[in-house]
Amino acid sequence: MIGASGQAIAQAPSARWPSRTNQPPHRDCIIEAGSALIWENDAPVIKRNVSVRVRDDRIVEISTDPIRGDTRRIDARGHLLLPGFISGHTHVSIGSYTRAVIDGGGGTAAPHAVVEAFDDETMDDLMAFNLLELLRSGVTTIVNQDHNVRRAYSYVRVASRWAARGYPSGMIPGVERLFPVWGRKDDKALYDSVPDTLVEIEANRQFGLRYNGSEDGRIRPNMAPHATDTHTPETMGKILEAAKELGNGIHLHLSQSDTETQRVKKLWGVTPAAWLKQLGFYDVPVFAAHMSGLDLENDLKILAENNVFFATCPSGGGPGGTPQPWPEALAAGVKSGPAIDSHSNDMVENVKMAVIHGQARHGLIGKTSKVPLTRPTIEQAVNGATAIPAGVLGRPDLGRIAVGAKADLITIDVTSPLVGGGAMSPRPLWNLLYASGANVRNVMTDGYFQVHDNVFVVDDEARIVERGGKAVERMYVELLKMGYFK
Ligand SMILES: [Zn+2]
Repeated sequence: MIGASGQAIAQAPSARWPSRTNQPPHRDCIIEAGSALIWENDAPVIKRNVSVRVRDDRIVEISTDPIRGDTRRIDARGHLLLPGFISGHTHVSIGSYTRAVIDGGGGTAAPHAVVEAFDDETMDDLMAFNLLELLRSGVTTIVNQDHNVRRAYSYVRVASRWAARGYPSGMIPGVERLFPVWGRKDDKALYDSVPDTLVEIEANRQFGLRYNGSEDGRIRPNMAPHATDTHTPETMGKILEAAKELGNGIHLHLSQSDTETQRVKKLWGVTPAAWLKQLGFYDVPVFAAHMSGLDLENDLKILAENNVFFATCPSGGGPGGTPQPWPEALAAGVKSGPAIDSHSNDMVENVKMAVIHGQARHGLIGKTSKVPLTRPTIEQAVNGATAIPAGVLGRPDLGRIAVGAKADLITIDVTSPLVGGGAMSPRPLWNLLYASGANVRNVMTDGYFQVHDNVFVVDDEARIVERGGKAVERMYVELLKMGYFK
């Protein structure tokens, strides 16, 4: 294979899971970008004609003059160079199969149950398809609440081979136990679930201890309670204890619906955001998703005062749905930004949709709302998918293009037809409103190329797609037998 620089790139070998070590032993290259989002004076700024030198896992030089040297060069003159995206809320394994069912109203319990019966090898095939999509759309750090601890192990098996960076965990309760607790008629089911939930917490703790800091620190497990209305003070206390031991924070759904908010108020006397404060959760970084049922007048202040990232996920319930209160969060100063959730693994698309949903919400209720709204911009969305979540993770080495930062970098073609105008615009971020993950051309994590010149170079993409396809096909067959699609 020949890259844009004209130099040969190592081709992935034929083993089932090839390894990133097939890349050149010394990670050393110069990326020559038409424009780049550079970190200067503690803020991101767009610069034209930027050269960035990468050595091993770090950015070592940034210049608007050509950088000398005979190392290989990456021609990104028609591209925008960005820090790799951070998806602050993701369920990696489910995207490729839930997109076949989420818009039909038949629910996800049956599809999840069919997939849960897969053996580990098939689960890994499914995981690989989805992780490939995330990488191809420019996500280099995945905060991943996978659907149970077994799938968290599967994630680590695949992510380690491809040098993907992540904060993985299994959702608690896992998908095989979730629905009777979440969809309960009365709270007996919640109290009855406690012993099994405690067993799951320990299993996730063991997963976390086993992999914490592995793969040169790219794998950092956290703890992931499903939501505030599927737990008691006892189980939440154990989760926080384990999160503190691991040191990588908490990842949950928060006030996903008004039902969740009302249930927690009835059970524990306060809103979910206030309950987390009472429980001491804000002692650690908290990644919290959706917030459609937030008590805006009380909760925004609590969130803004603490180290909480609000992940707004425009594809969360499928591509439509009611826009989440991201404009209110921005106005209140809550650290926030777009994330994947599931169904769509296209981060560029979700960054764009977060802006569109947010502007629609601002236009529809901006004048009548009891709390102020900010009309979101693409600049805020990109910042909310890079530097802001990096800050909440306590990782100033991620989410920014600066000397000494990690070489987690992506380039997006912003000049080609349908996206750009044939030349680099003075405002290339605005072109992202016309782009998708299909325009991502290079993706690198820790200096390892995963996508180079639009080729997935850490594995055989055709084989990943074929095996992922066989896995979802098995689900289609089972669902058809059940009459699911009628
Ligand atoms: Zn979610």
